[in-house]
Amino acid sequence: MLAGAKRLKREYDQVQGVATLDTLRRIRVLVLLGVPLHAVLAVWFALFRAPQGQAHLQAWADGLTGLQAGLSAALFVLGLLAHRLLRRPDGAGRAGLAVQIAVCAAYLAFGAAAAILDVRIGNGIATFLVICMGTSVLSLMRPAWSGLLFGSAFVVFWSILRGSAVDATLLASFQIQAIAALLMAQLISVMMWHQYARTVLLSRKLLLSNEALLVKQQELETLAERDTLTGLYNRRKFMQLAEQELGRAVRMPCDICLVMVDLDFFKQVNDQYGHPTGDQVLQQVAVRLLAGVRATDIVARMGGEEFIVLMPDTPRAGAMALAEKLRVTLRERPLQLTERSVPITASFGLSGLEPRQRASLEALYAAADQALYVAKKQGRDRVEWVEPLITETVAGYSRARGAVVPSEGQR
Ligand code: GH3
Ligand code: MG
Ligand code: MG
Repeated sequence: MLAGAKRLKREYDQVQGVATLDTLRRIRVLVLLGVPLHAVLAVWFALFRAPQGQAHLQAWADGLTGLQAGLSAALFVLGLLAHRLLRRPDGAGRAGLAVQIAVCAAYLAFGAAAAILDVRIGNGIATFLVICMGTSVLSLMRPAWSGLLFGSAFVVFWSILRGSAVDATLLASFQIQAIAALLMAQLISVMMWHQYARTVLLSRKLLLSNEALLVKQQELETLAERDTLTGLYNRRKFMQLAEQELGRAVRMPCDICLVMVDLDFFKQVNDQYGHPTGDQVLQQVAVRLLAGVRATDIVARMGGEEFIVLMPDTPRAGAMALAEKLRVTLRERPLQLTERSVPITASFGLSGLEPRQRASLEALYAAADQALYVAKKQGRDRVEWVEPLITETVAGYSRARGAVVPSEGQR
């Protein structure tokens, strides 16, 4: 029981700030409507002239003129304060709560005074009852605050009403009406506050879990397309990107080359220095490969100690030169690892297409793999080229003009 109350208090504390801000926003709107409305009503009652011999009616209208004008002025000042507090970057704080309670108190006091004036001319206390309900709907208040507010409103209203010259039967009826209305108002206020607190806390929870989900989704996306050791694209992502590049090379014909890189005798590196060092070697090789190619080239780790580079818009001579450069870079600058330097070499197998040639990615990959095999067979630490299986040759392509021109037959 006590734990439940403590939990509720903790939850209510967490939403108090936003609840005050939301109520101040409602007050700002209320003031925009209420200030002119009560001012107009004040003028209307001021212009009211009771028939001859109806002095009590004139006193009623004069009383309401003062009340309407007073409420309009009070709302104007409190509205300005609410507006200023809403612009504070650090929230409205206790001052916001004070303005909120002042607006409720002003309306309840107005309702009580207007009801007492009504009772004096033989009307009921409907104004007070309606304002109690309105206050409970408008203002988001913790149960303790609303209880205090409505309780005090009843005590003040009842003391003044009892002092007015009203007969005992009517007084009993008004008492029951006022108690019922205030209890209803308190109930509505508690329900609205509780519902509001739950909604705010739930939406915060949702926001947090959405953010966590987004992070998880990004992690999953990274895992799905990146190699965890080197951070390079994995085989799956490489194949997808390579298919796209090959498709692009068909639409906008250009040379395209594929380079397979396999570290030489890497098993010995593991055997000699251990797997952790082997892992560091793979990471360093990835860095060197990335640093050695163009930003538009696609570098991936195909698995084990095997890497691959797709070079869009690169002719055979350029790809061979680049592979040679990478080979020399790996060979001549031993990898500087944390504990030691490790000399390594790599073999390179290349294949590629000219703009007029068409082949599948599988054919290109198979040819580069074949070239790698040749490089290994020929003694490793070398660069080899194998032509792919061409499925189609586009006639009349002019490399110099960079576009397909009609062949003789097509002109
Ligand atoms: P070759 O010159 O013929 O390519 O010889 P090799 O030793 O490089 O080739 P082999 O295929 O016999 O061995 C590849 C080695 O790569 C074996 C395996 O232990 C190692 N390897 C594969 N993946 C990893 C990895 O993620 N980390 C480490 N440290 N080693 C790996
Ligand atoms: Mg190898
Ligand atoms: Mg291998």
